[in-house]
This record gives sequence, C-alpha cells and structure tokens, in this order.
Amino acid sequence: MELAGKNVLVFGAAISGISAAETLLGAGARVTLADGKERDKLKQADALSGLECRAMLALGRQDEELLDGMDLLIISPGISIHHALPQAALRRKIPVWGEVELAGRLCQAPIVAVTGTNGKTTTTTLLGEMMKTRFEQVVIGGNIGVGLAQAVGQVAADGYVVAEISSFQLEAAGTFHPHIAVMLNLTPDHLDRHGSLEGYAAVKEQIFANQTSQDYLVLNHDDERVRDMAKRCRSQAFFFSRQIELETGAFVSADAIWLRWQGKAQQVCRIDEMKLFGGHNVENALAACSAACLAGVAPSQMANVLRQFCGVEHRIEPVATLEGVRWFNDSKATNPESSIKALEAFPGHVILIAGGRDKNTDLAEFMNLVKQKVDQLILIGEAAARFAAAAQASCVKNIVQVGSLEEAVETARQLAQPPQVVLLSPACASYDMFDNYEQRGRIFKQLVRKEERQG
Ligand code: ADP
Repeated sequence: MELAGKNVLVFGAAISGISAAETLLGAGARVTLADGKERDKLKQADALSGLECRAMLALGRQDEELLDGMDLLIISPGISIHHALPQAALRRKIPVWGEVELAGRLCQAPIVAVTGTNGKTTTTTLLGEMMKTRFEQVVIGGNIGVGLAQAVGQVAADGYVVAEISSFQLEAAGTFHPHIAVMLNLTPDHLDRHGSLEGYAAVKEQIFANQTSQDYLVLNHDDERVRDMAKRCRSQAFFFSRQIELETGAFVSADAIWLRWQGKAQQVCRIDEMKLFGGHNVENALAACSAACLAGVAPSQMANVLRQFCGVEHRIEPVATLEGVRWFNDSKATNPESSIKALEAFPGHVILIAGGRDKNTDLAEFMNLVKQKVDQLILIGEAAARFAAAAQASCVKNIVQVGSLEEAVETARQLAQPPQVVLLSPACASYDMFDNYEQRGRIFKQLVRKEERQG
C-alpha cells in the first residue's frame, strides 16, 4: 500500500503509536492519533505537543466514528486485535496493522526478530552488539528504545535491523517477514489476552509464518514446544541447546559455547569469560550467537562482545563492590520465577532484598531456593508479611521486615561480609512504593552509591 496521501488512524498514543505517527507523516500520510485516555493521563506529553501541528489528535476517544474516511488503522501493542475499534475496522474492510507490520513494510534492510516469553531484551541487546561488529548500520528496536517503525527508517538496505518482538506485537503483523527469527522459549504468560497456551503459541508462531527457504529460524532445542516448531516452518531451522551437544547448531561443551555449522566446529568463548550471570543468560548467549552466526558475524567477534557485555539495566546488573561485597540490581524480577533465575545465578551466600506489591503467586519453589542460597532475607513493601510467613514455612532462618528500600539497603550494608553478595530481586511488582521497576532499580543504585561514597 502506498502511504502518501492516505488517511491513517493511529490508535494508542504511547511510544509505539507516536513512533508510528511520525513514520507515517514522513511517508506523506494524513495522520490522526487517537487514544481512549485524556491528554493529562498520557505520559508522552512532549512528543504529543510536537505532533500537534502536523497530525490530528483525538484524545479521550475510542468511538467507531474515528474510522470514518480512514484508509488504514494502526494499533499499538497495548491494544488487542479483539478491541472494539480494530474489530469495527475489520468489519468496514479497513486494513488493521500493528506497528511491526508497518515497520516490516517500510524496512529496506534485513530484519532479525527475537521473541519468546523470557530473555527478549537481553538477547536482542546482546545480538545487536554482535551485529555491530559486522555491519556498519545496525538499529536495535521494537520493545526497546525507539519504536520499530521509526527505527527501520534509519537503516539502508546493507544494514541490519535487530528487533525485539512481543506476542502482542505479532497479533496484527500479517506480512511481517524477518530474515532471521529467534524463538527463545515458551511458557504460559499473558494468557488473559491470548486465551490459552495454544492461542499464545499460535501468535508467537506468526514470527516465522512468512519466512521462506532462504530464511532462518533459531529455536531452543531444550524447550519441547519450541523445538517442535521446526516441523511447521518453511525456513531453515537452526537449534541451540544448553543441555546437549548438537550436530549442527550452538551448544555448550566443556563449559564453553560452541558453534557447529556447515561442517565447521568453533569455540566461541568459555562461559566463565562471560560477564553475564546465570544459566538463563547462557541460553540467551547461545541464541544471540546462533543468529549472529547466520548473519555472518565471526565467532571471535562474538567472544569479544560476550567478554564485555554486562547485561541490560535492572537484570542482575552489577552496581558496586563495597568492602569486598558485590551488590546487584535485579529490579526487573517482578515475579518469583524471575527471582529464581537470579538466585540460581549465584552459588550461595546471598543477602536478598525482596517484596513489593504482592501478585499473590505461589511461593513454595522460590522459598525452597531461598533456603538454600540466602543467608539473610530482607523484606519490604505490601508483600512483606506474606513472604515472611512463606519463608518461615520453608524453614528460612534469618528474616527481617523493614519499612523502606533505604532501610533495606542500610540493613544489608550492616550485615554483609565477603563472600556474601547483596541482591535486590523483589519477586514482586513495584507499584506499592514506586512508579515502576525502573524507578525502583534506579533508587536502589543511588542508595548503594551513597553508601559507597560514605565509605
Ligand atoms: P524480556 O524482555 O523477555 O522480559 P529480559 O531480557 O528483560 O526478558 O529478562 C527479564 C527476566 O527474565 C530476567 O530478569 C530473568 O529473570 C528472566 N530471563 C531472562 N532470560 C531468560 C531465559 N532465557 N529463560 C528464562 N528466563 C529468563
């Protein structure tokens, strides 16, 4: 579809919608940006003001009349395809695209797209760094940084787009066609939106639905549901595994990452050389090396990146070392599964700061691990009492409840001795005390650095 002169309604006025609106304006379309929320409830106030003279704004509206005279509807990832407005558009035979569909149609460069339930941001960022060693122009986008539609406009045909793609973004991406697709793992998530695990898996599989025999699909061999996808793709499957040595693919052997492809086996680097922590990050590294290998990145360059890449902010992020005690910010861990991954990354002697807004999840498995790995459990927030009771039930010994994150940091500072480490991995949402997990993580880092300055 030629976009110049078309009337396009963009529904959802957050980062993705604004990015789509900018891109469409650049392509010569007439844009209306709508959102069910009133202006004062929207976060991107500055960006909206910047658009005002070039696009129509329809804030606080989601009525069907918005579709009158429209040639195309673009929906943000936060808007389900089952929402009344896209459904009305489809009834009126108005095409409905997600931002990924728009980006895919405008993109000149090949795309590598990363999806899965967990590890997307880490893998996409890591892979982006690897790709930069081989291609002059690499743009990382999608759920990270700038919206994908805006990102693709910055890359010529000989560059590469590295995109993090969530299941939400795949709902209205009918022609999206990445040259390399990566499926990290698939566990029950977002079932409220997708209905069932099967529904969720079907949406995820859209990432390779348009691939051809010239394309590649990187799959986690250790995840049965993901492994099975090889049977349903037209592209060439490339597996990675942490558990077995594959005849072709990326795998772990003798505590090192290996690539075996086109008859050649090459060691990338030893796992203990990587800066990332934890077995889950070995999986992310294997996935990134797989995609990088298929894009022609040299294993020695992958190794250089793996030796330097410290991970993404708020995910077992090293903050400081105070008198031999290392401090880590894992504020992104907003549920027990994520905190389990973080605890598994350490051999033991953890001083754990946890708690926040309680999601009322089952804590048995988490507390069993706390018992093995944690010397002192420091609890904050609304969940503190229930977490304390669950910890006691699992025979965790040293438990203390405190009134704030600041107090938690002070308590940890007084108690911690090497070889102990202090880990903020809350296993809870942040909204009882903070705007979001990012703010919680940043405040934690400020508090730790204040302790560092005070010596
Ligand atoms: P996403 O973008 O998919 O949310 P992130 O890279 O931001 O993933 O990581 C979020 C959390 O998910 C991490 O803090 C960790 O607890 C968990 N995680 C990361 N990678 C994996 C993986 N490969 N398998 C399982 N869990 C993971």
